Amino acid sequence: MGTPRIVLISTGGTVAAQSTTDGAVPRLSARDLLPDDLAPEIVPVDLMSVDSSAMTTGDQFAVAGAVEAALADPSVDGVVVTHGTDTLEETSYLVDLCHTDDRPVVFTGAQRTSDDPHGDGPANIAAALAAATDPGQRGRGVIVAFGGEVLSARGLFKASTTDLNAFDTVHDRLRRQTLNGHVSTAPPRRVDALSLYPGVSPGLIAAAVSQQVAGLVLSATGSGNTHPDITAEVTAAVRAGIVVVVTTRVPFGEVVPTYGGGGGAVDLHRAGAIVSPWLRAPQARIAIVALLSTGATADEVGAFFAASGPA
Ligand code: ASP
Repeated sequence: MGTPRIVLISTGGTVAAQSTTDGAVPRLSARDLLPDDLAPEIVPVDLMSVDSSAMTTGDQFAVAGAVEAALADPSVDGVVVTHGTDTLEETSYLVDLCHTDDRPVVFTGAQRTSDDPHGDGPANIAAALAAATDPGQRGRGVIVAFGGEVLSARGLFKASTTDLNAFDTVHDRLRRQTLNGHVSTAPPRRVDALSLYPGVSPGLIAAAVSQQVAGLVLSATGSGNTHPDITAEVTAAVRAGIVVVVTTRVPFGEVVPTYGGGGGAVDLHRAGAIVSPWLRAPQARIAIVALLSTGATADEVGAFFAASGPA
């Protein structure tokens, strides 16, 4: 076998950032991120240079499109994407949904800027390149090499603002669900996410309905519960043709509709909301955007979430 060929797509984030008096900003190019020891043949791609918190949904689809373009070359053995950690769980999961290829696609980033003497970026990039050339990582979908761990993108979430092990996972064996095998070029549909709490105004949902969102994700409390007044708004939203998905603001555990009383997940489900058993708001939202962009119906979105559990 010859030298492995890897495409490294740079998008910005702390891994490419330098400290300035106005705060850290992405400055390094894909070529700047390459290790000195170029064991695999690496093709650098400068896709964008943004803080991932400033990405648009369109930017996230652009990353998925760049991965698809890289994998269109049969001589490529794997892809590494460097990305800000703030929304890495979203973009990596979008790519996981969009591609069916067995070749490794590995996301990585850093918690410390590139000019930090104790920066974690170089080690994370080295680990991502190693994973991208590892035949044992084939067929896993998108993986994330970070802080000495290699995690599946599915179920991932940013768990620490500062620890070098930035990520954790709600469940490490969620089933790989791929959409139609290519990245939608249609403008992404608008899907909003709301966090619920005692005293939340039902008007927030009414406002989303009036703005004609295509979907709504509710981060409810506990196992998907909220106030009965929210249930009435969910009924109206579903009647208006909006796909409503309920998840929880709790980081771990399955969401199982258990409670009634007017605002429990049992009531929300009866009002037409789809329950996301594992995917939390950031990834649930990405799934709905991706599904609606491929023309999925509400029933198909429901079937997707019903099958989104462990393999
Ligand atoms: N704000 C940065 C970003 O998401 C944080 C990071 O990369 O760690 O781009």
